[in-house]
Amino acid sequence: MTNPKKIINFESAQKLVTRIAGEDAMRVIRIYEKKKANVTDEELAKKMRLKVTEVRTILNRLHYRGVALYQKSKNSKTGWYSYTWVVKSKRIAELLLEELGENLEKLESKQQIQSNYGLFSCKGLCETIPFEVAAEYRFKCPECGKAMNAVDTKKALKKTEQTLQNLRDEISAIQKSI
Ligand SMILES: [Zn+2]
Repeated sequence: MTNPKKIINFESAQKLVTRIAGEDAMRVIRIYEKKKANVTDEELAKKMRLKVTEVRTILNRLHYRGVALYQKSKNSKTGWYSYTWVVKSKRIAELLLEELGENLEKLESKQQIQSNYGLFSCKGLCETIPFEVAAEYRFKCPECGKAMNAVDTKKALKKTEQTLQNLRDEISAIQKSI
């Protein structure tokens, strides 16, 4: 039996991490995954050849979303505080599932619209609207005024259903990674 794919190896997870904490955030996550231990921000900065302030910015952004947590400890000799950080990759999965769940809802309603209504559009790039709305406008595009015709939604519906299937597969793979 193969192990389930790790959450940080999902492209969508990597994108999410980069979006919430910047270009170098995945490097931070990978260092923690490798070490499986707590690392201080100074150690991280050295490893990554970044300034400590840059590493702290990344960690603070991750902390804001609950992905990185820290422990504060006082050095009894110097009286200085040091911050030891730990990364919760499970939290990345949670954030990702939240986001994908929203996408799923949107796609499901799109699928419903595409399968339940006749859709109408003009020949331009204006919005596609359901039959009832198009009828209210007497089949003249509310945006550009040109005539509106029925759209063949079969192709679009097929595409939506394929996207939905891929999304459901990904969600279940992510759930297995937790
Ligand atoms: Zn139009």
